[in-house]
Amino acid sequence: MRRSIAAGNWKMNGLRENFNDILLIDAASENVNCDVILCVPDTLIREMSEKTKNIFSGGQNCHIEASGAFTGDISAEMIKDAGASHVIVGHSERRVNYNENNNLIKSKAQTALNEGLKAIICIGETLKERDTGITLDIIKKQLLDSLPQEITGETIIIAYEPVWAIGTGLTPTIEQITEVHDFIRAELENNYGKKIGHSVNILYGGSMNAKNAHEISAIENVDGGLVGGASLKAESFIPIINALNLN
Ligand code: PEP
Repeated sequence: MRRSIAAGNWKMNGLRENFNDILLIDAASENVNCDVILCVPDTLIREMSEKTKNIFSGGQNCHIEASGAFTGDISAEMIKDAGASHVIVGHSERRVNYNENNNLIKSKAQTALNEGLKAIICIGETLKERDTGITLDIIKKQLLDSLPQEITGETIIIAYEPVWAIGTGLTPTIEQITEVHDFIRAELENNYGKKIGHSVNILYGGSMNAKNAHEISAIENVDGGLVGGASLKAESFIPIINALNLN
């Protein structure tokens, strides 16, 4: 039985003066019927993991090496050491802005797993890819080429995030989300076996908010959401947690 997940991605937002939002989100996450994960900037992970009780702490990216001459980078080991349990890899902003390809993302995910972090692996098509009818081909390639060889529902979370829905206020139709999530589930089951494929959480991400969270998360193979903008403030993220809590 998969437990629903409300994951927030703060991206490059959040100072210590925003810490009260984290505490409010933590308080609202007590006794909810879903896991709440906040992927904050690395600078906030330590304090968040020490001062919260009900939420999981996450990073947003990691290097494939544990240490070395990689100025400005952070390793999975360091994120873990700061108190994180999760890390996002392969977000479309990293794929596009830093030319991260499936191979690299697979290595990052493997490194995260080796360090005992749960990897949230993002995949999703651009609008051009959707318009040319190749969404499922793109999803299949990104999924199978970005996933480590051995996965379980305990080590991996997939986030389907159509690039054109991220930060735009646009969301796919319920039918479009259903189609892609069903497809991802089938691919997981075909390639990793029914039991493992069934156990992996598949999150939807892209302009999720308090209004659409309940309807989207009620779709059979949607096991929660990865939320960007609306996760930054307690007042907008808590209603999403509450909506996912209902499913
Ligand atoms: C994201 O960046 O992962 C995301 C889903 O952003 P937003 O919710 O702002 O579209």
